[in-house]
Amino acid sequence: MILIHPPVAKPCEPPAGIAKLCGALNHHGIRYGVLDANLEGLLSLLKASPVPSDTWTSRAFRHLSKHLSSLSSWEVYQENGRYRRAVKDLNRLLEMAGRSSGVRLGLTNYQHDELSPARSTDLIRAAEHPEDNPFYPYFKKRLTELLKSEQPSVIGFSLNYLSQALCTFAMIGLLRRECPKVKLVSGGGLVTSWMRRPHWKNPFEGLVDHLVAGPGEAPLLSLMEVMQSGNNHYSPNYDSLPVRDYFAPGPILPYSSSSGCYWNRCSFCPERAEENPYIAIPAEKVIVDLLRLVDKQKPVLIHLLDNAISPSLMKAIAEHPPGVPWYGFARITRHLIDPDFCLALKQSGCVMLKLGLESGDQSVLDSLQKGINLEEASLALKNLRKAGISTYVYLLFGTPPEGLIEARRTLEFIVKHQDCIGFLNLAVFNMPIYGPEVDQMETKTYYEGDLSLYTSFDHPKAWSRPLVRQFLDKKFKRHPAIASILRRDPPVFTSNHAPFFVMDSIYPTPREAN
Ligand code: SF4
Repeated sequence: MILIHPPVAKPCEPPAGIAKLCGALNHHGIRYGVLDANLEGLLSLLKASPVPSDTWTSRAFRHLSKHLSSLSSWEVYQENGRYRRAVKDLNRLLEMAGRSSGVRLGLTNYQHDELSPARSTDLIRAAEHPEDNPFYPYFKKRLTELLKSEQPSVIGFSLNYLSQALCTFAMIGLLRRECPKVKLVSGGGLVTSWMRRPHWKNPFEGLVDHLVAGPGEAPLLSLMEVMQSGNNHYSPNYDSLPVRDYFAPGPILPYSSSSGCYWNRCSFCPERAEENPYIAIPAEKVIVDLLRLVDKQKPVLIHLLDNAISPSLMKAIAEHPPGVPWYGFARITRHLIDPDFCLALKQSGCVMLKLGLESGDQSVLDSLQKGINLEEASLALKNLRKAGISTYVYLLFGTPPEGLIEARRTLEFIVKHQDCIGFLNLAVFNMPIYGPEVDQMETKTYYEGDLSLYTSFDHPKAWSRPLVRQFLDKKFKRHPAIASILRRDPPVFTSNHAPFFVMDSIYPTPREAN
């Protein structure tokens, strides 16, 4: 079996979903290989000499190896200007590499001029013409070699982001043509979202043999005729992934302690709309996993991938620090208004918390069922700041209960707490196609394609997307306090690289300190 992580996704850490599958396969002694086609594919395009063009591209290509090595050193994360230049130059080279194929390509971006990843007919077209894909020279050679050396009976694709969809299908198209007998399987976050759509009907029959919704371990094992019994938590295994080759100053260890969300009430949330159940690994097992993985992989940072790290897990980590800095998404709960709790998190290595505040207006928060009290949020932000934990605050504009007045309150809240906010993420609301609110709104039919996950709707307060964008561009982002927070955001890699900018200089792991 071969497991493939297709382009394009942020190439800064190994794919956690594939590592989980590796853990399960390893446990049952099934032979497998792993291909990070995202990392390899991006590097192959970056290293291909660009068609002679403008000065920027030529200069970017001249500095390529310097930029690549700088992103794997600590120093560049202390120098915002150098970091930005490196990332923008790499993005420029990819942009130029994609141009002749009609693709707007970047380190996190794959947008085709004509084909949409939200239309099944376009994905099938990508499969029918794999040679039109800018990664084709890379994956044709690499897959042919792998087919020859590994002779797999099953090839699995982990498809999580829209930016991976067209490339995944191009690779599937090539494989279907070259080795019609090999079973092709695809799972991952995006496939799960497709399959959770109401009235789902598989449009890829004959192209993909199995589509998997939700955690892939059990379906993959049953495909390999392994019957599971009892508890089936498999610790992730990163041995087959090039953990030291990603765009980061050292290995990042992604780890997911749960799927779904323990809160599961926010009205706009796709997790809730998809009815993904909350399944958590017991905290004591998480601690054992983390300690073992830290010992093995020697990461410089742990990325906890949970939709919301539960307070009980935070408590367990505070009691059993993994010995390496860590960060992840947390809800703003009462726990964070306890200064001692925040201090304990800091002492356990927490460098940054990502917080979904969404709005600075209490009535909006209540209506969205966020379970956030703004007075507590204010205290939590201040406590985290005092404890030395940076915050990456997520805001959501244009939700149904929000209008201009409420959006202005969000602006005021952020300005008031500017000293406690490390980074900001601003998003404009998308209505999940199958969310609980859809029935109460005047919605239009699918506006992008048959696989679209969102629908357009008439905003009850006429706070339409163009008006929201205008407010963000002309008012919100221009406020000096907010502009200075936004300037800190690492371009392209955003929250994935943000912790490196806020660690206490170079945070030594105990192992390095010894
Ligand atoms: S806390 Fe986050 S993941 Fe959980 S329901 Fe709310 S938005 Fe969804």
